[in-house]
Amino acid sequence: MSSTAPSISKSEDKTAKKYVYYFGEGHAEGNAKMKNVLGGKGAGLAEMTNIGVPVPPGFTISTEVCTYFYEHGKQYPPDLRDAVAENLARVERVVDRKFGDRNKPLLVSVRSGARASMPGMMDTILNLGLNDETVQGLAKHDERFALDSYRRFIQMFSDVVLEVDKEHFEHELFALRDRVGAQTDAQIPANALRELVATYKKIVREKSGNDFPQNVNDQLWGAIGAVFSSWNNQRAITYRKLNGIPDDWGTAVNVQSMVFGNMGDDCATGVAFTRNPSTGERKFFGEYLPNAQGEDVVAGIRTPLPISKAQALSGEKSLEETMPAVYAQLEDVYKKLEAHYRDMQDIEFTIQSGKLYLLQTRTGKRTGFAAVKIACDMTDEGLIDHREAVERVEAGQIVQLLAPVFDHAEKEKALKGGRLLGRGLPAGPGAAAGRIAFNAEHAVQMAADGPVVLVRIETSPEDIAGMHSAAGILTTRGGLTSHAAVVARGMGRPCVVGAGSLKVDYGRGELRSEGHEPLEEGDWISIDGTTGEILGGKLPTRPSEVVQVLIENTMKPEQSEVYRNFDRLLKWADEIRTLGIRTNADTPNDARVARLFGAAGIGLCRTEHMFFAEERIVRVREMILARNEAGRRRALDQLLPFQKADFEGIFRELTGMPVTIRLLDPPLHEFLPHTEAQMSALARDMGWGYVELRAKVNQLHEVNPMLGHRGCRLGITYPEIYEMQVRAIFQAACDVRKDGIDVRPEVMIPLVGTVKELQITSEMTRRVAADVIKERGVDVPVIVGTMIEIPRAALIADQLGEIAEFFSFGTNDLTQMTFGYSRDDAGTFLPEYVDKKILPKDPFESIDTTGVGQLVRLGTERGRSANAKLKVGVCGEHGGDPDSIRFFRTCNLNYVSCSPYRVPVARLAAAQAELEQKAYEG
Ligand code: PEP
Ligand code: MG
Repeated sequence: MSSTAPSISKSEDKTAKKYVYYFGEGHAEGNAKMKNVLGGKGAGLAEMTNIGVPVPPGFTISTEVCTYFYEHGKQYPPDLRDAVAENLARVERVVDRKFGDRNKPLLVSVRSGARASMPGMMDTILNLGLNDETVQGLAKHDERFALDSYRRFIQMFSDVVLEVDKEHFEHELFALRDRVGAQTDAQIPANALRELVATYKKIVREKSGNDFPQNVNDQLWGAIGAVFSSWNNQRAITYRKLNGIPDDWGTAVNVQSMVFGNMGDDCATGVAFTRNPSTGERKFFGEYLPNAQGEDVVAGIRTPLPISKAQALSGEKSLEETMPAVYAQLEDVYKKLEAHYRDMQDIEFTIQSGKLYLLQTRTGKRTGFAAVKIACDMTDEGLIDHREAVERVEAGQIVQLLAPVFDHAEKEKALKGGRLLGRGLPAGPGAAAGRIAFNAEHAVQMAADGPVVLVRIETSPEDIAGMHSAAGILTTRGGLTSHAAVVARGMGRPCVVGAGSLKVDYGRGELRSEGHEPLEEGDWISIDGTTGEILGGKLPTRPSEVVQVLIENTMKPEQSEVYRNFDRLLKWADEIRTLGIRTNADTPNDARVARLFGAAGIGLCRTEHMFFAEERIVRVREMILARNEAGRRRALDQLLPFQKADFEGIFRELTGMPVTIRLLDPPLHEFLPHTEAQMSALARDMGWGYVELRAKVNQLHEVNPMLGHRGCRLGITYPEIYEMQVRAIFQAACDVRKDGIDVRPEVMIPLVGTVKELQITSEMTRRVAADVIKERGVDVPVIVGTMIEIPRAALIADQLGEIAEFFSFGTNDLTQMTFGYSRDDAGTFLPEYVDKKILPKDPFESIDTTGVGQLVRLGTERGRSANAKLKVGVCGEHGGDPDSIRFFRTCNLNYVSCSPYRVPVARLAAAQAELEQKAYEG
């Protein structure tokens, strides 16, 4: 490889590609826009140099060298060595020191830096350039400091480059401390450090078989190679996977002249944020360590001190107090950086002998709270406009502002105290603490006496009342679109699903987790649906300020800055977006909540959820089990008033807004009694024998109910069910219309796969609606549409478009049926598929744009080819997912519909999608 690589690359290299970029003395060859080539750190160092921020000189070896390195069997481009030597010479001239010189040695740091920040995942080497001779040059200034730097360098270099475990060195260091009676490393005297250096070199010889390299160029190239290699260490690979960073980006290597924060009491090192990253408050916020090197801060060996007087607790010496002049300079620099980048920055600095140097600046990571506040504040400060403010907040982060929260300090205490029982998928954000109930019925009863957490292996529609009563929901099986997850999100309940390390034993009434006593019904448990953590015991929670102002009216807008900023940002988003936002809601209360969150109507009302309340389920069961149509009609007549009342409540909440009501969809067996007790009670109620009833239940059993007797198939085989529902819808509509409500019902037929199905059911709908309107003598609009959730429906959308007035893509079922993955069972293999990169992400969470998404695009186009006015929306879970929303905007849909608590996310994501679309269209 090495003999052929140079000749290949020489011929490739005709354009004399630039691989090394210098920065120093107020001028850099790169700039902030060159992150792809220089990495985040390199681009930041270049930009800071250019705008006159004090940065020690150095150079960046580009990410393209990393790519080359991996493509050429860990070889470098042929001209790289010369370019590095040239740039090193330039640094030497500027700092007036020489690399490897015994009198005035130049020392450098060698650091990684990818396009996206990967904190601590790759390698770094400091103090490079020290050997037995140069250490003497450094010792002229301060012998102890020189030896301390040398022993740190030997350890770091040996660990990273020579693969000698740092434990061997640390063991000796601790032993030495004991011998000389030193409490901290800083107390070890020079002669003891000299001894330690000798011991360290012996360790290197023993463990690596070679002497510690004395040639400084060998050191430099060893370090460069190690940093490039660290792009593919296991930590970095895992981090990239978790954060969606492509493997082919590569890292840059930054070689920079060292400055020392550990040369005495006029030295320090620190990190700071230009605003508070957790609250967004406009206050410089950071920590520093006097007389220390950066690694001491990262390693947490010493407790850092606050940077400003405002931040300091009594007795703490802030940097502002101990070095006021440098602090003032640091303030100038941070203001300059923030004004320049027009965003909150995360900076690293070192103070050497009273002189300030910046070593890094990057856009600071922040919580959802901080993101919203910073975006609003920066708009007020004139740094950014409304459009940029909307772009600045990750849409998904906004849910943090809605979720009830655990008291932070209490949670930390509980975690430290070993109360973590396990983790699951964070399915419904927020925190909940309550007593354990193992079934829905108990949850309802126990909720009368205080908060309950419903703990199930998995949930089903019959648990709905229990889920509603519960403060939180925990399941040990199922993924992010499992029944529990979907319903909990709809209700805004904190929810953790698929916590496989916990075992629910219904028989014993126990929840078991390894290393903990089993918990019983009634015991307290706390779940964090934002992180997926499950803790034993009771942690205190409180509702979010946004919910208190908007939903509970227990706080006024003037009292909550969080709310005011939330509201402003979303209003700016509304000015930008063209995509409508509706909600999936089945109750008047959910409809109200969604409206207050900014939904412009209902995109999906799942009528089956209305069938589970206690007095109704009996009628539903009678209807299903009836021996004939007359029996069914009798039961349905009793159900009608309940449905009508529900619809009235919803219509009253949403005057002037569309309300899409889906006729019955799930397989009937979901409503049937399952336990012996339920069957006996029902048999008594219906005047049947138990055996007869059980036989009927068994007869209705389906092998594969999701693909069985459900959706419009029910409406066709039992038309009286759909007739009752349509009658209830229009009776309710006419009655509220009489009260002056502007009512706009839209009837939606589920699971259509053929034109005939839609023809039959929509004709029936129109006929029954017309009858009711005539009976009531009030006019309300009759709009009938269909769900598109079977691939065949998307393919024949032109024919369906001739009948339907709207389409709503049910992307949950459409994903299930296009992939052939059961929604309820995919959790057993999908995580592995994502892990193995068979799929980029879970397609139930984020729309599969290349497959399922194409059916959405094609179905929309075909539908509109038949009916140019066709309204098209999405009501699957994807309607609340920012990436999916971005895709739906490109399909020119009219709206997305999502659960009430996702509405703010969807509003923001739709605005961001609009901005992207505009940028794309130029
Ligand atoms: C869907 O399939 O996407 C849908 C919205 O319907 P459901 O989730 O009720 O099956
Ligand atoms: Mg569906």
